[in-house]
Amino acid sequence: MLNEIEVDVAVIGGGPAGLAAAISAKENGAEKVLLIERGSRLGGILNQCIHDGFGLVLFNKSLTGPEYAEIFIEKLLELKIDYMLNSMVLELTPSKKLYVANKNGYHLIKAKAVVLAMGCRERTRGAIKIAGSRPSGVYTAGLAQNFINLQNLMIGRTAVILGSGDVGLIMARRLTLEGVKIQAVVEIMPFPYGLRRNVVQCLEDYNIPLYLSHTVTEILGRDRVEAVKIAKVDENLKPIPGTEKIIPCDTVLLSVGLIPENELSRQAGVEIDPRTQGPVVNSMLQTSVKGIFACGNVLHVNDLVDYVTVEARKAGLWAAKYALNQLPEPDRKEITITLGENVRSAVPQKIIPGLDTSLFFRVYKPGKNKTLNIIVDGNKIIQKHCPSVTPSEMLKADLKGEYTLNAEKIHVEVCE
Ligand SMILES: Cc1cc2nc3c(=O)[nH]c(=O)nc-3n(C[C@H](O)[C@H](O)[C@H](O)COP(=O)(O)OP(=O)(O)OC[C@H]3O[C@@H](n4cnc5c(N)ncnc54)[C@H](O)[C@@H]3O)c2cc1C
Repeated sequence: MLNEIEVDVAVIGGGPAGLAAAISAKENGAEKVLLIERGSRLGGILNQCIHDGFGLVLFNKSLTGPEYAEIFIEKLLELKIDYMLNSMVLELTPSKKLYVANKNGYHLIKAKAVVLAMGCRERTRGAIKIAGSRPSGVYTAGLAQNFINLQNLMIGRTAVILGSGDVGLIMARRLTLEGVKIQAVVEIMPFPYGLRRNVVQCLEDYNIPLYLSHTVTEILGRDRVEAVKIAKVDENLKPIPGTEKIIPCDTVLLSVGLIPENELSRQAGVEIDPRTQGPVVNSMLQTSVKGIFACGNVLHVNDLVDYVTVEARKAGLWAAKYALNQLPEPDRKEITITLGENVRSAVPQKIIPGLDTSLFFRVYKPGKNKTLNIIVDGNKIIQKHCPSVTPSEMLKADLKGEYTLNAEKIHVEVCE
């Protein structure tokens, strides 16, 4: 039998984004808030991030992932917000009906507003098509982190890590501390992909070699990984013949990108931005489907959890207002931001004229002493000096509503 539940705001995902959105929705007047999480505990990816570095911006403290999550879980409990664990949202319709499966059966949740907070998943070997045999010992970095930190399982003795994103860097240090010899971190780009602080604290402090402009061209081994073949790449990221080198190892970790989990969003008809692979949203974090809001890694892959929390609070606020029929109707059409020199993506993509908006950008290529310009109708409204920019670090700017009230065009660029 289908169990029917009616709520004001349904939040999909119990990671830091979902927790903050649910709390904010409740604090902003939504009475019936329901958070749905497919895992067996709240906290999302933070549960397996036992390193510190969380909360520096919001709490001025360096917390571990579980410590950071605990602050919000306690608040959720204090506000008596309903949540379902071990419950998977299988379907979301444009009319905000959610179909959820758990051990008690199949549930239909009719929501007035929905917050998407499903996070992201890791790209796998299949996604990057590495040649070679199919031995055991190949893991994504997050899976390896889960095995070691949550299940106390050892994954190997000598490892090569492909990709220098933050997850890969953090796992290089974590595995070293567990006695694994990290033979190399191999990065296809000519620059490290993770935060500078992670390159220093996770590789340089442990003398782990980083091969830039290199990739793994083949995984060798029959039953278990025995070695990888790496090669230098040219400016088109293609391996250069004759530069191959064999590195012996019994384990390969892949840290080759995260993909926002937008299957449900697509099902609901939400427009997806091919640059971020997350929903297109406006200043209220509302997607192209009215009443469906998005925040956190499902919207765009974030480097700092603190920004996820701030963004999710806004999504929760606007979702509550939508559910209460209090969402202001904009007087004018939204303005789509146009992207100029060295800007890969912008979130939100659309500005509601007159509304204060926090904007996040990512660049294509790294550089030093650049300026982020936000140009409204030809006038440079924001000029922000950036001592260094890199694709792995988001740039942030706050655009005041007074500058966009009568605006027609908003353009952003990162240049000299
Ligand atoms: C290894 C690693 C290290 C990091 N280190 C740092 C750091 O040092 N400092 C820092 O500030 N940030 C760090 N981050 C980033 C930060 O952890 C993330 O930005 C943040 O966790 C994203 O939160 P989220 O809620 O969007 O996603 P998640 O935490 O991934 O939560 C999403 C939740 O949604 C659930 N879900 C998905 N689909 C469904 C469904 N259909 N039904 C029900 N539930 C669903 C998932 O089970 C999950 O619990 C790190 C991230 C990683 C992976």
